[in-house]
Amino acid sequence: MIKVFRTVKEINSYSSENKKQGKKIGFVPTMGYLHDGHLSLLKESKNKCDISVVSIFVNPTQFSPNEDLSRYPRDFERDENLLIENGADAIFYPDVEEIYPEGYETFINVEELSQKHEGEFRPTHFKGVATVVAILFNSVMPDYAFFGRKDAQQAALIQKMVFDLKMNVEIVVCPIIREPDGLAMSSRNVYLSTGERKDALVLKSSLELAVDLIRKGETESKFILEEMKNLINGVKTSTLDYVKIIDASSFNEIKKIEKGKKIYILVACKIGKTRLIDNELIEI
Ligand code: AMP
Repeated sequence: MIKVFRTVKEINSYSSENKKQGKKIGFVPTMGYLHDGHLSLLKESKNKCDISVVSIFVNPTQFSPNEDLSRYPRDFERDENLLIENGADAIFYPDVEEIYPEGYETFINVEELSQKHEGEFRPTHFKGVATVVAILFNSVMPDYAFFGRKDAQQAALIQKMVFDLKMNVEIVVCPIIREPDGLAMSSRNVYLSTGERKDALVLKSSLELAVDLIRKGETESKFILEEMKNLINGVKTSTLDYVKIIDASSFNEIKKIEKGKKIYILVACKIGKTRLIDNELIEI
């Protein structure tokens, strides 16, 4: 039987008991409406750990007032069944008041990393992410926590927070899981109309175009980014937020692509009203 905990106290004592027995705890934080991307993180946790805990919490502090908090897809019963089928041991499913009781006022800010790229378009987003992940870590006390590379900057931000605050948890970053046609899986994909769903493929195609140019020897980021922009802007329903080529360890933009480097190509783009992100990690 899967265990469902609604309070910090309950999940905390569940983890404590398991730790006392020498068990390693794996943790997968999610906002629910689970898909194969989330389940791949759970699989990794089950491979590495004795006990796997998945949290489902749509975190209000990482949404800005003009974003989709109220319409974010939610279906606990569906998620619970998926987690049973996929062998999770426990679900941490707190409500908002449990995490942020009245008078809550403490936030974590990874100062530089939270301001660039995604942070330019979502200025308060990463402060909310870092804060909730810290609260979840304190509640679940995991030995390992699993994050998707789909949100590459988020994963890097969590790694930085864990390093800076000397948190006792190892972060594992897992590959992007895609639909058969290449669209990166996301809970937000359900917002897309049939036409928009086709248009959304332009994110992945723009990344493929960039990888292709790089593999053919193109070294100027500016040229590659222009080509990506042209492709994306050719899709009527698209509104581009950014395309970037960055160093995979510093997360700083790079002008010239040099051999021996690991880089991320990032794309963030609205299709209709739905904001999607994707990336490709490559080693030159
Ligand atoms: P979310 O529920 O969107 O907050 O995502 C929870 C976790 O699942 C985060 O670590 C995400 O990076 C990860 N994730 C989301 N989509 C994917 C995907 N397509 N492939 C791999 N991991 C993903």
